[in-house]
Amino acid sequence: MTQSTKKFPYWWDSAGHPAPTQETELPGEVDALVVGAGLTGLSAARTLAMHGKSVLVLDSGNPGQGASSRNGGMIGGGHKVDADTLISRDGIDIAARKLREMHLDSVKFAKTVMETEEIDCDFRQTGRFLALWLSSEYENAARNLNKIKELAPVSAEMVQKSQLRDEIASDIYAGGAIYHNHGGLNPAKWVQGFLEAAIRRGALVQGNTPAIQIESDQRGHSVLTPRGRVRAGEVLLATNGYTKGMFGTAGRSVFPVPSYIVATEQLGANHVGTLFPTARMIVETRERHCYFRPSPDGTRIVFGGRAALFQAGNRLFEHQLRSLMTGIFPELRGVGISHAWKGNTGFTFGMEPHVGRFNGLWHAMGYCGNGNAMAPWLGHKAALQIIGNAEGETAFSHATLQQRWWYQGRPWFLPLADVGFRARDVISNLRNRVQRWPREG
Ligand SMILES: Cc1cc2nc3c(=O)[nH]c(=O)nc-3n(C[C@H](O)[C@H](O)[C@H](O)COP(=O)(O)OP(=O)(O)OC[C@H]3O[C@@H](n4cnc5c(N)ncnc54)[C@H](O)[C@@H]3O)c2cc1C
Repeated sequence: MTQSTKKFPYWWDSAGHPAPTQETELPGEVDALVVGAGLTGLSAARTLAMHGKSVLVLDSGNPGQGASSRNGGMIGGGHKVDADTLISRDGIDIAARKLREMHLDSVKFAKTVMETEEIDCDFRQTGRFLALWLSSEYENAARNLNKIKELAPVSAEMVQKSQLRDEIASDIYAGGAIYHNHGGLNPAKWVQGFLEAAIRRGALVQGNTPAIQIESDQRGHSVLTPRGRVRAGEVLLATNGYTKGMFGTAGRSVFPVPSYIVATEQLGANHVGTLFPTARMIVETRERHCYFRPSPDGTRIVFGGRAALFQAGNRLFEHQLRSLMTGIFPELRGVGISHAWKGNTGFTFGMEPHVGRFNGLWHAMGYCGNGNAMAPWLGHKAALQIIGNAEGETAFSHATLQQRWWYQGRPWFLPLADVGFRARDVISNLRNRVQRWPREG
């Protein structure tokens, strides 16, 4: 790590660091208490307050300091579960509704909130390029895309290997798919905008106030914090990758997977423009799952990926991300890294988010690394379900939130999975090299 690398998100330079809230005496009783002040919790709070409910949002740190202000800033869609799997799990109707919500409704909702609340978060609908690691994936990817388009009016198209250079100045991929509806933003500005909107709409947000324990009875819930107890008619858990096992079933259904990310020093708009000719967000199918993009001002590259499945130190993950980045863009060897940071994504065993209620506690979580549109959307849906509004209906309440007997809230299995993934990385890297060898010699 270079001496000057900042160990906090690049986004915080322009949006400001997540700040403590002004401490106000906690109310004795509220209609709804939301645990977690990220995109999910703040969106739910905004909707609840807009419907006249008294809402308290608690966060154990400063609001927005979780994944919501640390992520890669790509917005739109879901790419973890293919259309056939969705159909086999849920039937064609629910699968179609999920695809519509992921690719269309959630992005539309985000755009409406940006407009209504006047949130300037550097949003640009650039589209996203899903880059295929292996040529053998092309046929399946094309079939999946056709299926998606049959089920929902998603604007997307395949890109053959011969056209790859229109999308990215690299020959490492085997073609891909463009999703036109997706885009990029500055996530720290996005969540800050939601925080201000929720407060403006009447929600009380208190940082540095963890929910320590929740007791439920027939009259509602009693939430214990270091600053006293609050009674709440309803409680929504919006803690995603920061969920601790203490919250019962939801805590045993979502596990934290760290994601690591760096920003390069200023490279200049011309240089970045040649590497990303369309300025699209790029996500790859390799299990390293690199995701990268130009910064909103087009002068740097923001590059993330699976550097490790355990909490790795900065030196290790910066080294790994640099080597992945230069594997894609060899000309970036030697460029400086200005920022290196990490955050927790929240994964479910079914690789899909979920909204619902277990033992009287509501939850909206499990975005599997895809929450800039889905977290506000499902936070909003959870709020509507809480107040009994029929518009709270979402296909993501129909998914089964799976548990495993061997996961009780401590992700002991991630270091083991890391070893397995590394072995698979070696094989998939070899396959990628072999498929490029005849062309590149
Ligand atoms: C490095 C990284 C890159 C990513 N890139 C992308 C991307 O490019 N595009 C995309 O769409 N998604 C991306 N994601 C995923 C996205 O950031 C998340 O899905 C989304 O931010 C989830 O929002 P949330 O509000 O549910 O959770 P968070 O923003 O993580 O908020 C949860 C909050 O709960 C609080 N909390 C936990 N326990 C308690 C408690 N007991 N009491 C009070 N508060 C508590 C935490 O302090 C935290 O602030 C990325 C995530 C990471 C980490």
